[in-house]
Amino acid sequence: MPQHDAIVVGAGHNGLTCACYLAKAGLRVLVVEASPTIGGMTTTRELVLPGFRTDVHASGYQLANLSSAPDELELRRFGLDLIRPEVSLCKAFPDGTCVSIHDSVDRTCADIARTSVRDAEAWRTLYRGYLDGKDALRQELESAPRPWAEMLAEDLRGPRAGERIRFRFQSVRTWAEENFESESMRILLADFAGHAGFAPDDAGGAAFAFLFLAVIQDVGNRAVEGGMGRLAESLAACLAQHGGRIRTGAMVTRIRVGDGRAVGVDLADGTFLPAGVIASSVHPRRLILELLAHADLGRTLITDAEHYEVGAAQMGIYVALSEPVHYSVGATASSATQVHLMPPTIDSLADAFRTARADRLPDEPSAFVVNEAAIDPGRVPEGRSALKVVLTTVPYDVDWPRLGAGYARSVLRSITERYIPDLEDKILAVSVMTPPDYEADVSSAVHGTVTHGAMTVYQQGALRPTPELGQYKGPVGGLYLCGAGSHPGPGVSMMPGRNAAHLILAEL
Ligand SMILES: Cc1cc2nc3c(=O)[nH]c(=O)nc-3n(C[C@H](O)[C@H](O)[C@H](O)COP(=O)(O)OP(=O)(O)OC[C@H]3O[C@@H](n4cnc5c(N)ncnc54)[C@H](O)[C@@H]3O)c2cc1C
Repeated sequence: MPQHDAIVVGAGHNGLTCACYLAKAGLRVLVVEASPTIGGMTTTRELVLPGFRTDVHASGYQLANLSSAPDELELRRFGLDLIRPEVSLCKAFPDGTCVSIHDSVDRTCADIARTSVRDAEAWRTLYRGYLDGKDALRQELESAPRPWAEMLAEDLRGPRAGERIRFRFQSVRTWAEENFESESMRILLADFAGHAGFAPDDAGGAAFAFLFLAVIQDVGNRAVEGGMGRLAESLAACLAQHGGRIRTGAMVTRIRVGDGRAVGVDLADGTFLPAGVIASSVHPRRLILELLAHADLGRTLITDAEHYEVGAAQMGIYVALSEPVHYSVGATASSATQVHLMPPTIDSLADAFRTARADRLPDEPSAFVVNEAAIDPGRVPEGRSALKVVLTTVPYDVDWPRLGAGYARSVLRSITERYIPDLEDKILAVSVMTPPDYEADVSSAVHGTVTHGAMTVYQQGALRPTPELGQYKGPVGGLYLCGAGSHPGPGVSMMPGRNAAHLILAEL
């Protein structure tokens, strides 16, 4: 008899979520994690200086606000507390102006109206549309993905079919130009598409940007008190309560297959752990091409995995500060969860993407700042402060060991000159995570990416990661996918983990 009914590979938040549901249903569950610590892309560490706790990867608790998992798993009881700042998001411009998404739609619209009354009304109307469809959206996010043919047939039924189908595939540039007259609103939306690697002219960027921003308008751009790592810790505590276990420092090198079924996992230290159910939150490409390399999977699957696009690499610059800094646009920016800074127009954002995709460093990258300490002062020593600068699209194939530190310095210089005049004077220390650093830190960050596979329209929903694997089911019996490489995809949401667990339990 195997000691465990189910083994979950990867203790990121999705693997842990999946494990919690399985353990809660009475299965004996073991989570095996390659890193010495849990959390994957939801970790908080003293990266820059002792006493300065920073979110190494994800900071924004956004999509997770729509998830049923925190309530169902009672994560508050296990230590999850959220902070909801009044200003969710600010876009600052070098001319000293800004536009912000506030806690209430009225305040947001008043803010937008300073530039364009028409855009303020457009935002209100679009947001109302989001609220009307919110229940359906939640249902879609928290269920196995529907076949594309079914979704497209539905889009095409009834009046305004063309509009629906366009929105599904439209670029953020054309959609934003159709809906907003001000460049500030257009770039605000385009910046958000950039979070998931959509350049302004990429298909699919409009839907992602609008839904992401509407969710933030609705439920806020929250932060986890004490750092995003507390989410993983609360899930781990929930798992322990239900009898589940976690083994860290345990790299799975192979998923063993017998008679067409997964029968267990081999660890790097030579241990074999048998189980009837294996749930993997490993990057899909690595799952198929590495952990199942020995299995006879068939040419289509292998080719699809080889062609699975990994997406845009990111870079992080983590700054410990002697005291809080001041944005030239004023206090609204200092109090926001995130402040988007560069670049100021859609054209310049498109340039940044083009340059990064040509394996060159953009002169003006797409960059936003997370005001970690301003919104959660307990993360730094009293009186001190900290910022995290995220560059959403940088190349992977450049000589990062030689160029990384200098590039980070030039970005901080540019931010000081144009957005935060006292930044450089207050820096105590800086840490930089280049794409290879992210990849070394967590193996699912393939090529320094954060999404477990690009969010191109042909890698979404039931096509994510590939048509054959789009329903959380692996290529052999008893093997399931439960990470961000499955619907609804990346972000801190707990949804792929929860959806996969429901399927596993239904099949059992
Ligand atoms: C820099 C950065 C910023 C981000 N910002 C945000 C944000 O603000 N908001 C947001 O919503 N999302 C953000 N994200 C994205 C979000 O963090 C991820 O999409 C999400 O956390 C992925 O969760 P996961 O559990 O599916 O995978 P992961 O967190 O990647 O977990 C997978 C785990 O599997 C382990 N693993 C892999 N291979 C093996 C193996 N062979 N054996 C054992 N273990 C293995 C890994 O070590 C890892 O712990 C960001 C990500 C990054 C990197």
